[in-house]
Amino acid sequence: MRVLIGGGSGFVGQELMGLLRVKGHEVTVISRQPGPGRITWGELESRGLPPCDGVVNLAGENLMNPLRWWNESYKKDLFSSRINTTKALSRAIAASSSPPHSWVLVSGVACYKPSLTAEYTEDSEWTPYDLLSRLVKEWEAAARLPEKVSETTKQVVIRSGVVLGRDGGAMKQMLLPFWLGLGGTLGSGSQPFPWIHVSDLAGIIARSLDPPPDAPGPSPQVYNGVAPALNTNYEFTKELGQVLRRPTVLPVPGFVLNALLGSERAMVLTQGQKVIPKQTLESGYQYQYTDLTSALKQIVES
Ligand code: NDP
Repeated sequence: MRVLIGGGSGFVGQELMGLLRVKGHEVTVISRQPGPGRITWGELESRGLPPCDGVVNLAGENLMNPLRWWNESYKKDLFSSRINTTKALSRAIAASSSPPHSWVLVSGVACYKPSLTAEYTEDSEWTPYDLLSRLVKEWEAAARLPEKVSETTKQVVIRSGVVLGRDGGAMKQMLLPFWLGLGGTLGSGSQPFPWIHVSDLAGIIARSLDPPPDAPGPSPQVYNGVAPALNTNYEFTKELGQVLRRPTVLPVPGFVLNALLGSERAMVLTQGQKVIPKQTLESGYQYQYTDLTSALKQIVES
């Protein structure tokens, strides 16, 4: 299978590329930078979709970019980097004379309103309530294909939780402070912490790229990209401390995170959602890492 991955140069993209190549698939990345095995977004716009069987979009300005201050220009980039790339891909798929059989967008669980008690599955109704949930709404809408095209191309949306892996995402920023014994709960610590190991997110994406069965399912098919374990930030912090054999006694108060990150962004850390991967489990996906201990041990020991 030939797979085109927008933003495939990043943390999740590298893991996905490794997995697809092991399975014998051919991968082309769409990037802002030209290079071998890549096309640029400009080339996609001017030349149209290259021949491919599956398309994934992972492109987006990093939400936790430590080098960027939380201001209007950063917020604009968070939106445009996701929505413009997703629109460019859905337009190119719709205009293609031989569209791919699968089109997969990875969005986020920020669509679900944070709560200590509510449990969300892919079937849960949700309406935007803040900046990040508005972003998810617009992002997923940008991926929609015209009805005619969705008869031939399966559309999938994977709503990811915090992606845990050694080479990127949240862990890359957390490992050093935790090694130094400076790790601690964020905010109250009682907030849910929806997470997934990067190998499982890549596995769910790879499965979503499989050709659709003869009987068409709902479009888009939505999968929550989270591990089935429901953990809190406190549990995550204690588990990471134990795996690293380091103390975790220094909590970071919510107001400090709000001041450092901006309250709209800090919400991702200080609040959370209980997200159940109902459809993901029902699809038959077999997780490699269902619990925090095994996921964190793999990351720390790798
Ligand atoms: P990365 O931060 O690694 O970024 C992925 C790629 O996006 C980069 O390699 C880059 O490719 C491209 N990119 C970055 N900034 C821009 C920009 N301003 N305009 C266009 N392209 C840009 O992301 P991850 O791999 O961690 O995540 C993949 C997707 O999953 C993202 O959309 C993210 O929002 C989503 N997600 C990730 C989570 C996580 O915890 N990591 C959690 C929930 C959702 P290049 O430089 O080659 O152009």
